[in-house]
Amino acid sequence: MRDYRQEIRDKKRIVVKIGSSSLQHEATGELDYIRMDVLVRELCNLRNQGRDVVLVTSGAIAAGKKAVRLDQNAPFQNPMAVKQACAAIGQARLMMTYQKIFSEYNQVAAQILMTRFTVEDETNRVNAQNTFQELFSMGVIPIVNENDTVATHEIEFGDNDTLSAVVASMIGADLLILLSDIDGLYTDDPRSNPEASFVELVEQLDDSFLRMGKSSTGSGVGTGGMSTKLTAARIATSCGADMIIANSADIRIIHRLMDGRNLGTLFVARPDDAFDLPVFLKRLHEGGDGKEEQHA
Ligand code: GLU
Repeated sequence: MRDYRQEIRDKKRIVVKIGSSSLQHEATGELDYIRMDVLVRELCNLRNQGRDVVLVTSGAIAAGKKAVRLDQNAPFQNPMAVKQACAAIGQARLMMTYQKIFSEYNQVAAQILMTRFTVEDETNRVNAQNTFQELFSMGVIPIVNENDTVATHEIEFGDNDTLSAVVASMIGADLLILLSDIDGLYTDDPRSNPEASFVELVEQLDDSFLRMGKSSTGSGVGTGGMSTKLTAARIATSCGADMIIANSADIRIIHRLMDGRNLGTLFVARPDDAFDLPVFLKRLHEGGDGKEEQHA
């Protein structure tokens, strides 16, 4: 019998996704530098082990709002423009902080901002893939976020869970780690149902698991809930990557997972040649669950 957890030790190309709520102090909403430092140290250590590493990070809009002390309750004439302006401010701040910490560990980092168009348009997709490839051969860690400043509803992913799985698929990653404010997948929402039990391993992502997804997010910041994580799992596993949902309460969980420890929920890769990512994303965006085309 395969020991999926031990196989994690040999993963070569890893995408780590962290959400806004994991990067800020709950009480003030300001960036938590200590947590960011631990995250960067973990990623640099993976790089020093000779693995390719990508960070998908949220937090731009939240950091931008903080920077201009935005009154959340004020009536905005164009809330979309306000959000995009905050993303423009916050993305630069976020990167400045990351760059500073990465350089302390002698690691070069780069920024890649994407929209759904980057995947759906072939020229854009190939360009992005070439860029990732070059960055890996230079030993650089790409830091990815959605290009919120230009992303309108038509071209947005909307959440970084989906974005991180798309990145994993585009670069042929063999592992995606989603750091979350929850331990992993439960059979029901453990915040409202004390009977809910924890799921350690998902070998096949069938409908019974997909029904366990709840679209709420516990933290009130960020956009991901369990349903976007299950969408991410479908993309990642179909494209040949294992995916782990793990609790970001202690970010050092990254190296514990890489040591093969049984933490979080592991979704095992099930490569599916018929899986068409651009079509899947289109269906998802149109309000379906992207499911039909999987066996088309
Ligand atoms: N891209 C958004 C940001 O950086 C967050 C999206 C998400 O939380 O999933 O603020």
